[in-house]
Amino acid sequence: MSTTQEPDIASPKLAGNEDEATATATATCFCGSVQLAFPTEGPGLVNTFICHCKDCHKITASMFSSCFTIANSHLQHVRGRDNLKTFERSHTIASGNTVTSNFCATCGSLMYRVSSGYPGISVLRIGTVDDFNLHETKLRPQDEAFAESRVPWLQGLHREPESK
Ligand SMILES: [Zn+2]
Ligand SMILES: [Zn+2]
Repeated sequence: MSTTQEPDIASPKLAGNEDEATATATATCFCGSVQLAFPTEGPGLVNTFICHCKDCHKITASMFSSCFTIANSHLQHVRGRDNLKTFERSHTIASGNTVTSNFCATCGSLMYRVSSGYPGISVLRIGTVDDFNLHETKLRPQDEAFAESRVPWLQGLHREPESK
């Protein structure tokens, strides 16, 4: 007859907020079927960036993508891995690499992309990360790719001064 119901999750460590002790966080698709877990610090976290390339326009149905890169050795599929669909494209912008998009078969959220030109890493999406604080802190984009393709009505990446 407990009045406090624990959320139905596989592990309390993966409740959605960053776990301070292990510095891990989760990313979940729009419908919740697919969940990933990843480190929020190096070496597992490789980098963070936004990309304005023409491929990202189509992939996001918007004007840029917000990304972070995780070493595959540090990427965990918490649930829904069998619900990921893949789409492979070999004529990617500029590089010519084959890039495979992995998205939720139910809701269509793009969870990560893998490129033949960068083996061993996966490019996840900042917007899927459950702990919103991380969007502003550890996962804040540090770089901007294909800035020359940025639409004129959008300003470039705002870089905060280091001191605070
Ligand atoms: Zn989904
Ligand atoms: Zn791009």
